[in-house]
Amino acid sequence: MREQEIYNKLSEQKYRITQPRKEIIKLLVEKDAQHFKIDDFKNKGYKVATIYNVLNMLTELKIIKRYNFENSEVLYEFSKKAHGHFICEQCGDIINLALPGLSCLPAKQLGNNTTISKSKVEFYGVCAKCNEKNE
Ligand SMILES: [Zn+2]
Ligand SMILES: [Zn+2]
Repeated sequence: MREQEIYNKLSEQKYRITQPRKEIIKLLVEKDAQHFKIDDFKNKGYKVATIYNVLNMLTELKIIKRYNFENSEVLYEFSKKAHGHFICEQCGDIINLALPGLSCLPAKQLGNNTTISKSKVEFYGVCAKCNEKNE
């Protein structure tokens, strides 16, 4: 997602585009916002309250998604196609998993008139890199 698209969404919802908001959004876009944590911004000198304020706003607008994995801090990511996650219990690495057909799976079992608002697919284990080191 590009910065301008995000600003447009904010203006549509009558949110003001303040300087800290702008700066944090810029950082998100630069990093492509994959599984980032609050600390990533704290290190840049922003106040935690400011960071939360921006992230909550973007979550409400469904621009980013909030994840709460086991044994991990809260993570955020740009909303994209439904996907699952693999979480390495050893190094904490989080890997996106493409799961084709994930969104139509429930409808097949529950009927087409079912609406799904959220899905969560998480696999836990030891990643290939850690397994190599363990050998
Ligand atoms: Zn690992
Ligand atoms: Zn992800």
